[in-house]
Amino acid sequence: MDFALSDDLLAIRKVARDFAQNEIAPTVDADDKAHRFRKDIVDKMGELGFLGCPVPEQYGGSEMGYLAWVVIAEQIARVHSSMRLPFNMQMGPALTLLRYGTEEQKRKYVPGLASGEKMGCFAITEPNAGSDVASMRTTAIKDGDFYVLNGGKTWISNAQVADLALVYAYTDPGTKVKGMSAFIVEMNTPGISVAPIEEKLGTWAAPTGEIIFENCRIPKDALIGKEGDGFKICMNQLNDTRLGCAAGALGVAQACVDAAIEYANQREQFGQPIGKFSTIQDMIAEMVVETEAARMLVYRAAWLKDQNQPSALETSMGKYFAAEAANHCADKAVKIFGAYGYSEEYAVARYYRDAKSYQIVEGSSAIQKMIIGQDALGYRKANR
Ligand SMILES: Cc1cc2nc3c(=O)[nH]c(=O)nc-3n(C[C@H](O)[C@H](O)[C@H](O)COP(=O)(O)OP(=O)(O)OC[C@H]3O[C@@H](n4cnc5c(N)ncnc54)[C@H](O)[C@@H]3O)c2cc1C
Repeated sequence: MDFALSDDLLAIRKVARDFAQNEIAPTVDADDKAHRFRKDIVDKMGELGFLGCPVPEQYGGSEMGYLAWVVIAEQIARVHSSMRLPFNMQMGPALTLLRYGTEEQKRKYVPGLASGEKMGCFAITEPNAGSDVASMRTTAIKDGDFYVLNGGKTWISNAQVADLALVYAYTDPGTKVKGMSAFIVEMNTPGISVAPIEEKLGTWAAPTGEIIFENCRIPKDALIGKEGDGFKICMNQLNDTRLGCAAGALGVAQACVDAAIEYANQREQFGQPIGKFSTIQDMIAEMVVETEAARMLVYRAAWLKDQNQPSALETSMGKYFAAEAANHCADKAVKIFGAYGYSEEYAVARYYRDAKSYQIVEGSSAIQKMIIGQDALGYRKANR
């Protein structure tokens, strides 16, 4: 979709591609197999302004916009899906503070998140509350100048490396949704403990963990927006971070296309490159088309955000389609590689593992289809 990218965006894409190939690719296999989180790479991405593209310069961002953010995240995920996660973990809290925070909160936290100096995370999911966000049980009860947090979050990316967390909890536990509030929480606050989730299917180099709050007293000015705004804030945060996920899925899909084409041209069976077989061409054609279609949807959603236009529906479409494309492409790439796709010798096994998370996180594919279907049927408009 180069026709839609300006010269500036093409140049940004080249910088991101070169960065990923020079700084991430040389150690990607070793880092992934060692489950090694590379904070030094996060710092470099922060220095280059990659993480803070949608953040105004006055708050430490590079102000390059959402489309640039997506183009960069895609190139990073194309090399290592785990290293795409910081785009969401930094921007989930930062963009939420920019939208709903006080001037003091913005100045205090956003520059560190945009630069990568302060690692961020967002904590929505609980053991019994996944897709059904409103069923969360964590509470934040007002006590003088403090809120007291109690509860447990799980599957939180960056839990064990985060300095700051965007936390959702009930300030009024009796009332569904309307009693939910959002907080910016410093992770060194007493009463917070973290336990890593070590064994997972993919994204091995991206930390994941549980966060437990036990009588954790956070200052009352940690509240973002007003009490009761939490559910609305959460849905708006997901509209941003869903886009980052969609870009990651797109990068994985493209990586599968790249690997499959190279392998099909080089691997010979029956005296010719396997790419000469129509079944292989068929698979590669489907991979190429799905990846291109995903790119159009994802870039359009980012472009809408840059125009300050409603984008929730388009973001859901992009996230759904890109996540499915990444999985279809990874599945086909493994088939094209045969036994070598099943081995750890080539990267396609990693793409296959990493692709899966995109169908689950930030609203599963089923949830995106629910949003899109209900909008189409007129039951509940996504762009309200
Ligand atoms: C690698 C990874 C990183 C993550 N990072 C974070 C993070 O940083 N912060 C955070 O808060 N969470 C994070 N999560 C959690 C993630 O957001 C949840 O896993 C996700 O919301 C789905 O919730 P669940 O796993 O409880 O599945 P469930 O909600 O229990 O869903 C199980 C199945 O039921 C389907 N389903 C559920 N409801 C419906 C419905 N209404 N209609 C149709 N089908 C439905 C789902 O699509 C799914 O197939 C992460 C998860 C993973 C795997």
